[in-house]
Amino acid sequence: MAIRTIRTEGDAILGKKSRVVTEITPRTQDLIDDMIETMYEANGVGLAAVQVGVLKRIVVIDIGEGPMILINPEILETAGSQTGDEGCLSVPGLSGTVTRPNYVKVKALNEDMEEVIYEGEELLARAFCHEIDHLDGHMYTELVEGELRKVSYNDFDEDDFQ
Ligand code: ZN
Repeated sequence: MAIRTIRTEGDAILGKKSRVVTEITPRTQDLIDDMIETMYEANGVGLAAVQVGVLKRIVVIDIGEGPMILINPEILETAGSQTGDEGCLSVPGLSGTVTRPNYVKVKALNEDMEEVIYEGEELLARAFCHEIDHLDGHMYTELVEGELRKVSYNDFDEDDFQ
């Protein structure tokens, strides 16, 4: 496993649409392992492959309950709404207020290319939306209400999304 470089805002790749994954090759497995390691190293809650420069529809998320790997994720259903702070490893040091659904149901493939259904509320619902947006070239900064705020590292607690 290896830590990969996280692409930051201004890098054109972040605006590109990622491609559907059709098979898990050893290279894809390495990518997934590296994404998880890179997410933990950066204290992130989620990471999309495009953020390490690979245009594949792969997302990893850990809201404190262990790593989830979502391949070709699609949102099936949403309900309710939540308004709260959001940040992104590709936009370091900033956060902003974003409204997202409070409940999200997602269909994805796991590492064995088997279909899995996930349901998330609150932070997990926010993470699903944020990371799946990355796969279509969208950043949370497009959705921020008001101004982006500077966050000092000390302000982070475990409930913050980034
Ligand atoms: Zn992000």
